[in-house]
Amino acid sequence: MDRSSFRLEGDFGEIRWQEPLSRHTTWKLGGPARALVLPERPDQVAALLRYCQEKQIPLLVLGNGSNLLVRDSGWPGVALKLSKLQQLELSGEKIRAQAGVLLPVLARKTMAAGLAGLEWAGGIPATVGGAVLMNAGAHGGQMAEVVEKVTILNWQGEEEVWSSQELDYGYRSSRLKAARPGVVIEASFRLTPADPVQLQQRAQELLAWRQQHQPLNLPSCGSVFKNPPGGSAGRLIESAGCKGWQEGQIQVSPVHANFFVNLGGGTASEALRLMERVQARVAQVHGIKLEPEVQIVG
Ligand SMILES: Cc1cc2nc3c(=O)[nH]c(=O)nc-3n(C[C@H](O)[C@H](O)[C@H](O)COP(=O)(O)OP(=O)(O)OC[C@H]3O[C@@H](n4cnc5c(N)ncnc54)[C@H](O)[C@@H]3O)c2cc1C
Repeated sequence: MDRSSFRLEGDFGEIRWQEPLSRHTTWKLGGPARALVLPERPDQVAALLRYCQEKQIPLLVLGNGSNLLVRDSGWPGVALKLSKLQQLELSGEKIRAQAGVLLPVLARKTMAAGLAGLEWAGGIPATVGGAVLMNAGAHGGQMAEVVEKVTILNWQGEEEVWSSQELDYGYRSSRLKAARPGVVIEASFRLTPADPVQLQQRAQELLAWRQQHQPLNLPSCGSVFKNPPGGSAGRLIESAGCKGWQEGQIQVSPVHANFFVNLGGGTASEALRLMERVQARVAQVHGIKLEPEVQIVG
């Protein structure tokens, strides 16, 4: 891969050539993107989408990289990261957040304003864009319950507004994820008034639970596999005897078996090999095929 195979001519924001995506994923894995682009405004995103469409440059959208496994070979085209789209507006019970706002920031600010609905979200290292697409959720809460509408730019750079109903939410799924109609630029939420002190107490309890039950001191992508209907992927992996299994520097966490941690210097190939071994063992022991929750790209 070299940068000479395509150029980026236009006002798209900051461009970094041959940027290692291991710097942009929470698992700290992944080879370089030929170009990482960091727009500051939606019109720059729209211009980039049109340009990539016209020049047939493959495009990867990055949120906070907390559910992404980028292969070691990297991404041959443009990786678009929306971390500079940071506007957040609270007006009564209505909230508007741009795609790059981090979910824990959104949760903290809405709770401080006495708005309930995102207490479960404080420990999820996602962006609004990634969380809305994945229908992120925890402790019985999920994005589907609070999203009112989502503004996207389709691949031609045109704005579309999708209502919550049109997003067709399911467990860790949405029409945005299934159909990939474009790039999430912002989302609006409707929350309900509540006592900020009680909300923050509840959020603290949930964070403390996470710290006790999840290996948060090491890089990971959160849950590697989806929970099968009525079951827990972590419990299936543990009871199949896979806790502590290792491929290179990637390990099935002894703390939580559905978290595979990077012990330092791990590679995406090691993570993929470990996923395959664990899938095979769980299928052999329990007769269940685990489906990856992590999005594999590259
Ligand atoms: C320690 C840890 C704990 C976690 N706990 C939870 C949990 O409790 N519950 C849970 O649901 N998840 C959890 N996760 C997983 C992860 O945080 C979620 O899946 C989250 O929704 C991913 O958001 P992101 O912004 O990081 O998206 P990324 O990982 O960057 O991207 C995920 C997918 O969304 C797409 N995407 C991202 N942004 C946009 C956009 N603006 N427009 C269009 N497409 C976009 C990407 O192309 C990719 O396909 C955890 C992860 C970690 C590391």
